[in-house]
Amino acid sequence: MRNRMIAGNWKMNKTFSEGVELALGLVEELADGTGSVDVVVCPPAIDLKGVAEVIEQSSAPFALGGQNVYWEESGAYTGETAPGMLEAVGAAYCIIGHSERRSYFGETDEDVNKKAKALLAHGIVPISCCGESLEIRQAGEHVAFVVDQVRKDTEGLEFDDPARYVIAYEPIWAIGTGMNATADDAQEICGAIRATLVEVFGEEKAAGIRILYGGSAKPENVGGYLSMPDVDGALVGGASLKADSFAAMVKSAMA
Ligand code: PEP
Repeated sequence: MRNRMIAGNWKMNKTFSEGVELALGLVEELADGTGSVDVVVCPPAIDLKGVAEVIEQSSAPFALGGQNVYWEESGAYTGETAPGMLEAVGAAYCIIGHSERRSYFGETDEDVNKKAKALLAHGIVPISCCGESLEIRQAGEHVAFVVDQVRKDTEGLEFDDPARYVIAYEPIWAIGTGMNATADDAQEICGAIRATLVEVFGEEKAAGIRILYGGSAKPENVGGYLSMPDVDGALVGGASLKADSFAAMVKSAMA
């Protein structure tokens, strides 16, 4: 049994005070709780502390996540954030391998794998992103491409509880474009990801790992994705920047 998950990726949006305001808005919108749905917000690193305080002071029904991490414990890595730093501020989750990190900052599958290992060692749940470009989809190679990413990203990972590892399938052509994948497109890949997880981790663990869809997901279309057998939630960019639209997606997942 997999609890659904709705995770918000604020990307490089919201100053410290705007982040606190958005988190407070979300507390208000979700005042009746989130049922069995796990809700996560991933603000920019500089906003983490402020959002952590809102979560703590208001017993908010959502958890905190980072957007990126470096795999070393500490040292001369200017601009980076260590897993222990995320842990200390109360982050329970962290996005890794987002396509923007891969394309603008050269993050590779090997990096994503090292980041996952570092997070797991600190008890932080990786939300590990994968997804194909439009060119790869048009060439009909999208399933093989994503399966290969998942194999590389999960190599040698160790965790007992399958809820401790999350995958987000985010087709690059659908991110921030308004051009969302159909629910069937999402199921095709998420089903292939599940089959790959069975090969890597075995049937039982693979059955418990959440797979999210991301890419122009919004209140109007999230229900379609959630109706698919291998889609367990959504990683949400644009629609997570307003408390009412993000909360509406959480409520869809609760229905
Ligand atoms: C994302 O970047 O993780 C994302 C899914 O963005 P959007 O929802 O804006 O497409």
